[in-house]
Amino acid sequence: MTSTAFITHRDCWLHNMGEHHPESPERLGAINDRLIAAGLDMYLSFHDAPVASVDQISRAHPREHVEELLASVPEHGIRHLDPDTALCPHSMKAALRSAGAGIMATDLVLSGQAENAFCAIRPPGHHAEAGKAMGFCFFNNVAVAARHALEEHGLKRVAIVDFDVHHGNGTEDIFKDDPRVLMVSIFQHPFYPYSGADNPAPNMVNVPIKAGSRGDVFREIVTNIWMPALRNHAPEMIFISAGFDAHYEDDMGSLGLVEADYMWVTEQLKAVAAESANRRIVSLLEGGYSLSSLARSVVAHIKTLADL
Ligand SMILES: [Zn+2]
Repeated sequence: MTSTAFITHRDCWLHNMGEHHPESPERLGAINDRLIAAGLDMYLSFHDAPVASVDQISRAHPREHVEELLASVPEHGIRHLDPDTALCPHSMKAALRSAGAGIMATDLVLSGQAENAFCAIRPPGHHAEAGKAMGFCFFNNVAVAARHALEEHGLKRVAIVDFDVHHGNGTEDIFKDDPRVLMVSIFQHPFYPYSGADNPAPNMVNVPIKAGSRGDVFREIVTNIWMPALRNHAPEMIFISAGFDAHYEDDMGSLGLVEADYMWVTEQLKAVAAESANRRIVSLLEGGYSLSSLARSVVAHIKTLADL
């Protein structure tokens, strides 16, 4: 059996962008319930996410931008940064724990205390560009974690894999000039945030797919495009931007993945990690808004990570 760490924090539930916002605290509750119902909780090591420091977050964002966001939480009510993205009085507590979860996961996996780790966090991060919060995202959690692995632990090459239904424009923005990082992704196109299909940098293997596509299309892309690129890069660690909004039941997007596809892709990534990365994988929650399919997919993903 593999040792898998599960990292979260109660503060991640406090971020609330309004009653009907799909990026809701209930997402973490649904994951928790399903994890316990599946009996997985006995097999994982649970950790409370620490608060990320401004220095750590500033490896992926300009320091002034980080400080400005930290200072912009309202005292009461909700402050919108764009029509989808808003701050409540507790939002930055949640954002600091989310970024901190990725850092802790990286430390646990690189110190050998866990073989891999899943971060059940919100707000998500992959739309957050270096200098811009957007698309439900404030700090780019996976980018902060990857830079931590490179700068603090001295890794030379890492990969970021993004199977969220939306293009990880923020992650691309942060790493497009950093050849140490290979990003591979799929995303529905044309679709929010309408980026990713034109003139990608050489270290970006981001594959647009049409609305209505199902697991067969996804698996073909992974097999024929992602896997050769990943093997060629030989990452010393794999980070996953694990969004589950490409699920068939998720109305946020129009793709047709199911739990079996998430299990399959997780197996593929474990195979690459076994070849070049000493099995190290850190997976961070991004999207996924249908509570039932989100929770089932996360459990399927973690079961595969943990060899259960
Ligand atoms: Zn998404």
